[in-house]
Amino acid sequence: MKSLVVNREDLKHNIRTIKEIAKDTGRLDNHKNIEIIAVVKGNGYGLGLVPYSKFLIDNGIDFLAVSTLEEALQLREAKIQAKILMLSSTAIEKDVEKLVQNDIILTIGSKEAIETAQKIAEKLNKTVKVHLKIDTGFGRYGFCYNEKEKILEALKNANNIEIEGTFSHFTLAFFENNKFSEIQFKRFIDVIEYLKENKIETGKLHICNSSGFLKFKDKRLNAVRIGSAFLGRLSIPNTYGLKKIGYLKSQVAEIKELKKGYNIGYSNAYTLKKDSKIAIIPVGYADGFNVRDDRDMFRKIDRLRYIVRDVKDAFKDKSLYIDIKNNNGKYEKCKVIGRLGMYHITVDITGKDIAIGSSAKLNVNPIFVDSSIRREYISGE
Ligand SMILES: *Cc1c(COP(=O)(O)O)cnc(C)c1O
Repeated sequence: MKSLVVNREDLKHNIRTIKEIAKDTGRLDNHKNIEIIAVVKGNGYGLGLVPYSKFLIDNGIDFLAVSTLEEALQLREAKIQAKILMLSSTAIEKDVEKLVQNDIILTIGSKEAIETAQKIAEKLNKTVKVHLKIDTGFGRYGFCYNEKEKILEALKNANNIEIEGTFSHFTLAFFENNKFSEIQFKRFIDVIEYLKENKIETGKLHICNSSGFLKFKDKRLNAVRIGSAFLGRLSIPNTYGLKKIGYLKSQVAEIKELKKGYNIGYSNAYTLKKDSKIAIIPVGYADGFNVRDDRDMFRKIDRLRYIVRDVKDAFKDKSLYIDIKNNNGKYEKCKVIGRLGMYHITVDITGKDIAIGSSAKLNVNPIFVDSSIRREYISGE
């Protein structure tokens, strides 16, 4: 059996750390706390949408955010009553109706989305809570910052709409150069001021994701949207003491002794250099092991960077290691040999006191671990 293991104490530690950092509002008055909106999209960043959300709530988080209707409904079906913000704007009537019926706060990023929300609100005889989304240069959801008049126009007949917040999203908060984030922030504040001048209540303001929150104290505003920081898996250096959450747990399924020169795995890419003892672990790349972020940038300059990186990598020891518990109860680093299989890897355990059934720990980013794999929350080890 394999499972994705989440250490409760480590996760608690991260939640506490983030709350502590959020006490610094970055404002001189510093009197009102910043609200933490926990983003739980992507199956709770791989930690399991429902168990992860419940854990956050048990640890004092009372505002969640999701990216899809399905996620929002799953949370409500699990009887989670916390506030939920749907981060994606939609003008699809059926979807909006389901969201509103389930008391999900809508994101409104277009005239059509407002009209749909208003129509559904009237139909259900409700006031619908929304957050306005401003596109300050992301090129995705939201009213474009340079078309602020359109927002006023769109809000004209929105009598059943209550604006509870207004937000935007950084494109490169994880970069060292902060120039574009500064520009985005200015564009955002400019739109907010314009709306206020025109008597629009903008509600709580938020623009920071994890990296933005950690890096830009002066941009924390009223709320921050935190995803990856809870897992301690940041795209900026982790100087905050956040712990890495999530590893894959499996067991040694088979052990055998093979002679020097024997082939290991597909493509005959590896031959044993000495007589060896090997262990087979029934996990592979389909479980998220050693899955790299895709090369999703298509500019010529990025392709050039990939080539440079590959050449550099060719000179490094890129061997993979996993931890296997030996018969004395200690975890030992063991080298993965041969190509990874979809559901199997082969590990060199020569000279090690390891038996069939010994536990194996594999470092994975939980977000790549298939949602069919059991999530196991543990205390201790
Ligand atoms: C995913 C997401 C976040 C959280 O991002 P992290 O970098 O993981 O903290 C915040 N806001 C929006 C709109 C998102 O889609």
